[in-house]
Parts: sequence; structure tokens; C-alpha cells
Amino acid sequence: MGLIREAISPPNSTSPVPFNSHKLRAFSIITFNYDLCADFAFHFGSIPVRYCLDVSEDEDALPLLKLHGSLNWGTCSVCGKVVPWFLSNFFEGRYWDLAGLSNVTLRLSSMSREFKHCPSGGVSGPYVVPPTWNKAQYHEYLEPVWRGASAELADAENIFICGYSLPDTDNFFTYLYALGTIGQVRLKRLWVFNPDAEVETRFQELLGQGASSRFMFFPKRFDEMFYEVRPVFGLTAN
Ligand SMILES: [Zn+2]
Repeated sequence: MGLIREAISPPNSTSPVPFNSHKLRAFSIITFNYDLCADFAFHFGSIPVRYCLDVSEDEDALPLLKLHGSLNWGTCSVCGKVVPWFLSNFFEGRYWDLAGLSNVTLRLSSMSREFKHCPSGGVSGPYVVPPTWNKAQYHEYLEPVWRGASAELADAENIFICGYSLPDTDNFFTYLYALGTIGQVRLKRLWVFNPDAEVETRFQELLGQGASSRFMFFPKRFDEMFYEVRPVFGLTAN
């Protein structure tokens, strides 16, 4: 969140600053995590997100594509759609003093009666799908999210992958790769960060010769990746 916030803020200004929504459009996040850590960070960093479940979502917001669902999504009992409870709506009318706290717990489930879509019904959740993905479990309601992820990857200039090991049991990346033929034209960098060096071989086998000039592997953790990634966006390394 910090990197995106810095990259979209006007130079030489102090926070909080209005951000450049045109610059925000250059970013998207694709995640398998259904927890709310990223949602929470972007909400409190004043960066609006869209989950791409529905075309009515704010086009200027950052795509946060959660391929395995999310703890703040549920199924509407009236129309049957999978719908999000945006944290911006959740926190409307709520005040949370975060000063001095190192961790917090969001108890969405105990407040789920407030979560509404069609006025005459409730929403049951959370809507999450199992971590091991296969085509048989690919649910129609997640289709726009998957399509969005595929389009983002196909159109990307830079792809940074962190914490994803391309396990044999998970066909996700292979599937997306086939769907979008990732970054054939525009792609400049496909960088993978993972402390497990075996992951490098798996990615090389998938990508083949074509992407190899743009592929780099870093045996590093999430918190170590920003030293490498920040300069790509014109920011100092740390
Ligand atoms: Zn509904």
C-alpha cells in the first residue's frame, strides 16, 4: 500500500495528499488471500478499491482481484449474487481509534445483519473458495474477477509475484497464462520473489523461452522485495 500511495502522490508534498487517479489506474493487485489485510491497509491509506465483481463498481478505484473470494463478500438471499461489503461502507458511521495498536480484529460476522444488498433480504457469507483451485470449482460469480485478473496480466508492463510458489496442485497460473498469454507485447518485467529457490525452476518451465529475457527470480521475502521494486516506479530503494 505504501509503495502505491507514494507512486500516485504528487512529488514534494506531505501526507495526506490528494492522489492522481490516472496514476492509480496503472496498478492492480491480484491475490489468493481472502483475508482483509490488504483491504484494510488500502481503506486506511485512503486508496479506494474495486473487487471487479460487478460493472457498477468505481472505475477509478484500484482493482483488488481476490481470486478465492473474500471474508467481506457474501451471497444475497434475494438476487443470489455474490456481493461485497466495502470497508468504506462498513466503517461509515463507525469510529475506530487505531492509535498505538499493533494488531486489530474486524468482527464482520457479528455485524452481518447490517450487510444488505437487496433491501428485502440478507447476505450470507463469507464467500470464499478452497485454496486449491481447479476448473470444476470455478464459480460463475467469480468469473468477472478471474477475467479481470487475466486482462490485467495480459496488459501488464510489470508483473511482480510474491509468495506464490506455482505449486503443481494449483492450475491457476497455468490457466491464466493460457487465457491471456501474459504480457506478450508490453511486458518488461516478470519478477518473482520467493525464499524457496525451487520456485524459480517451476516458473522457468512454465514461461519457456519467450518470457525468459524479462523473467528474474529473487530468493527474497515480501518485506525484502520493495528494495528491488521501488526504483521501477521512480522511488528511492528505501
Ligand atoms: Zn441482491
